[in-house]
Amino acid sequence: MSIKNHILGFPRIGLKRELKFAQEKYWSGQCSLEKLLKVGRNIRKNNWKIQKENNLNFLTVGDFSWYDHVLTTSMMLGNIPKRHMSFNKKLTLDILFNVARGTKSTNETNGHASEMTKWFNTNYHYIVPEFYKDQNFSFSWKQILEEIDEAREFNLPIKVVLLSPVTYLWLGKVKGHRFNKLKLLPDLIKIYQKIFKEIQKKNITWIQIDEPILAFDLDESWKEAIYYTYKKFESFSKILLTTYFGSVLHNIKLISKLNIDGLHIDIVSEEPDLMILKKYIKPKCILSLGVINGRNIWRSDLFFWFNYIKKFLKFKKEIWISSSCSLLHVPIDLSLENNLKSSIKEWFSFAVQKCFEISLLTQAVNNKISSTQLIEWIKPLKKRKLSTLVHNSTTQLRIKKITQNLSITKRLNSYSIRQKIQQKLFNLPLLPLTTIGSFPQTEKIRKLRLDFKNQIITQNEYYTEIKKYIKYAISEQEKLDLDVLVHGEPERNDMVEYFSEYLEGFVFTEYGWVQSYGSRCVKPPIIIGDISRITPITIFWTKYAQSLTRKPVKGMLTGPVTILCWSFPREDLPYDIIAKQIACAIMDEVRELENSGINIIQIDEPALREGLPLRKSKHKQYLEWATEAFRLCTLNIKDSTQIHTHMCYCEFQDIMPSIVALDADVITIETSRSDIELLKFFKKFKYPNSIGPGVYDIHTPEIPKMQNIYKLLSQSLKNISHTKLWVNPDCGLKTRTWTETLLSLKNMVIAVKMLRKKI
Ligand code: GLN
Ligand code: ZN
Repeated sequence: MSIKNHILGFPRIGLKRELKFAQEKYWSGQCSLEKLLKVGRNIRKNNWKIQKENNLNFLTVGDFSWYDHVLTTSMMLGNIPKRHMSFNKKLTLDILFNVARGTKSTNETNGHASEMTKWFNTNYHYIVPEFYKDQNFSFSWKQILEEIDEAREFNLPIKVVLLSPVTYLWLGKVKGHRFNKLKLLPDLIKIYQKIFKEIQKKNITWIQIDEPILAFDLDESWKEAIYYTYKKFESFSKILLTTYFGSVLHNIKLISKLNIDGLHIDIVSEEPDLMILKKYIKPKCILSLGVINGRNIWRSDLFFWFNYIKKFLKFKKEIWISSSCSLLHVPIDLSLENNLKSSIKEWFSFAVQKCFEISLLTQAVNNKISSTQLIEWIKPLKKRKLSTLVHNSTTQLRIKKITQNLSITKRLNSYSIRQKIQQKLFNLPLLPLTTIGSFPQTEKIRKLRLDFKNQIITQNEYYTEIKKYIKYAISEQEKLDLDVLVHGEPERNDMVEYFSEYLEGFVFTEYGWVQSYGSRCVKPPIIIGDISRITPITIFWTKYAQSLTRKPVKGMLTGPVTILCWSFPREDLPYDIIAKQIACAIMDEVRELENSGINIIQIDEPALREGLPLRKSKHKQYLEWATEAFRLCTLNIKDSTQIHTHMCYCEFQDIMPSIVALDADVITIETSRSDIELLKFFKKFKYPNSIGPGVYDIHTPEIPKMQNIYKLLSQSLKNISHTKLWVNPDCGLKTRTWTETLLSLKNMVIAVKMLRKKI
């Protein structure tokens, strides 16, 4: 029997982000619906063409989405918040976009967008389904059927992808009256059965049901829900139960009870115990082995996988070869990259190349080609092992010394002592006023950076303009009477890319875009080798800003965990070591700032929570090295140097002890959307250091009312001592206009000044 292959999904943004540009034009009225639909069709066609050209045995259909695949599922199931429904209840693409982006009607609050949040432990964001007690579902959006028809022209077996109703429920949020959302499952299943029937009518044999929550620790009610669901799916098409982002062996007993035709497991994230698989997987159940990493960009060691699969075949013949997860999380085509040195480029593999790898591996396993071809394929990986671009003995030695004694990362004295020393130095008023770092990134400032990058303007011209911006930002902050000022970050395109450009060990792509949410894509840098700081990163601009004012200017750095999480990491070093290498580079910057008279330094870690492993049993280890990496940045700094950190949209509940362990003098957090709930946690955990709860939401253009800020702060004071409360917006201001920014900050300042009198 020959081994088959497939992928779990392909990126849908288009080779050169065609979908993004078409959508954004459509939203601004510059492109017709027909044109937009055509762009979508072409992308799908091209994606299937790539799969066919690489001899994959199935075309994967259903992985395309206009904004997000969870939102597409909501549309399919007719689960659209009432505030977005039209009178005739007919769903349109405009409604889909409205749910994602909000409506610009005069009645703004009525058409607000649904929430967005991170997809498992990735940097992809999905639109959170909303569930109401009186919820009805119906098969309302038939995109999937249309796409099956489209894919027929390729004359290949089609495998349809759907998100499981259980994972769908898990991802959503109950709105209005509280109730157990699992109560909705039976109704949902009925709709899925209908959809299956329609799909079956089109002669489709295989349906890939994505059930990524199986990588989590599930409580009984969710396990039962899964059992119940697949029982109801038994009589339909062949079902490939699909899991990814982690091992599912802890749920293998449950899985073994399901009457499924296939199981996909992600082998890259964690190698499974073959004996357990052998014991629990029914002989007739096909195992799809996710061996080509869908989360990273490295060329795969096909020879290793060849031997692995051969070993596997000894106990199980019915296997397929696949990507570990959807290829959504990697860039599309390496061959577009012209700026990468060819000796480096050959270490990588993007989505197109990964399809090729799957094909090559399958052919070798099926004895269609010799395994020497695989050895040929991995030659660059062998060369990499010896490359001087990868290994830096100074960095390695430095990390080795540091990891021998990590207790040294503790600050010299406790916060209560540091606070007194710092207060003496800064003499700040009660409820000190500050911001999170960035000020408006105007069209002008973006163009300026681009012109400099493209060498249209000289360094001199560039510096003059950036200085002007900083000067303006400082003078406005002084006029507002803020207490701790920032330079405004005009020189930064992105908080990770900017820093990695100054670090040895990183490379950058030209077209390596990955969907982050909707039409937004990110271009993560790639960590290829040992990391060290090449030159100072922020010193010049921070010093310049400080020279303009007598008030303290806060230096702005991105933390090691965030830099790691938002890059493609190397795979030949454990994450904790990479994080520590980055931390040492940041440490150099912290020290230089300190020596330059910058006494307040903020190290942003918005991705700290995102890196948390899916399994609870692995949380402790992760949190330990993540906090160590953060603290390493401030190794041996003076008690008088005040360290801030900032985290946004972060659920603190389960990581509170680690937040305490960071021991930042001040933490600024998002609270404006989650009300004051979050602060209760800080109180409950007796958070010992200072906190700046974000007093207004910077994500909307609305100007916060002074009274609201005042109220929020008064409430905060019930949970936090007035000696430890800071005041700031909930995130950086780069997406706002100057007018919005200044008016909002003004209200913030007035509120604080009023409150100060009462304390
Ligand atoms: N300092 C950054 C800014 O203000 C923080 C961004 C973030 O939290 N994501 O833009
Ligand atoms: Zn933020």
